[in-house]
Amino acid sequence: MSSPRDDWQQLGLPLPGPDLGGPQAFSSVARTAAAVPVAVWEALLTDVETRLRYRARVYQRGPDECWYWLGAISSTGHGKFRASSAARGLSRVVTAHVYGYQLAYGALHARPGEDPVISHRCDEASCQNPRHWRLGTRAENSIEYAERRRRLGGPLADVRGAHGRAVAVRDAILAARRSGSDIEEAIAAALAAGIAEAPGLF
Ligand SMILES: [Zn+2]
Repeated sequence: MSSPRDDWQQLGLPLPGPDLGGPQAFSSVARTAAAVPVAVWEALLTDVETRLRYRARVYQRGPDECWYWLGAISSTGHGKFRASSAARGLSRVVTAHVYGYQLAYGALHARPGEDPVISHRCDEASCQNPRHWRLGTRAENSIEYAERRRRLGGPLADVRGAHGRAVAVRDAILAARRSGSDIEEAIAAALAAGIAEAPGLF
């Protein structure tokens, strides 16, 4: 068995460090991979129906763009969905990007005392693009979040909060799909709607 650190390196993933971070400083327990035993994750990750259910809720775009979640959104703006394993008789609601991360890179094996957090480099809490995720510790994440939330015009500056922003983008994509209108325009408008203009006015 290789250690988690070895696994991360083999995958070419960034290792935890002070220069890395994400928006989920105030994670609920359910958002961490360690809250669910590895054996349960492995069962959920290999269930074909669950994988399809996950993928059906991801609005996939270009390799560098954010892939927004089209399913349920938590109070913190993260995607949620029900993962199950018929073979194991398991069913539980999981955080979408925690599931997706492990689908892309393999189940996380946290050592005792480790508390890995999967955060978003893009600061879009509902984003499912594996290139926008990184694995780090909760402490690093808190530090980085405090720094990034001061950035003007970024996702963390959205006056609707992470939940309101994720819901607005999801609903805009679904509405554009139904009406046959331009989805990229709908996304751009939904994102811009929560960002205050001209912060230097006062
Ligand atoms: Zn993203």
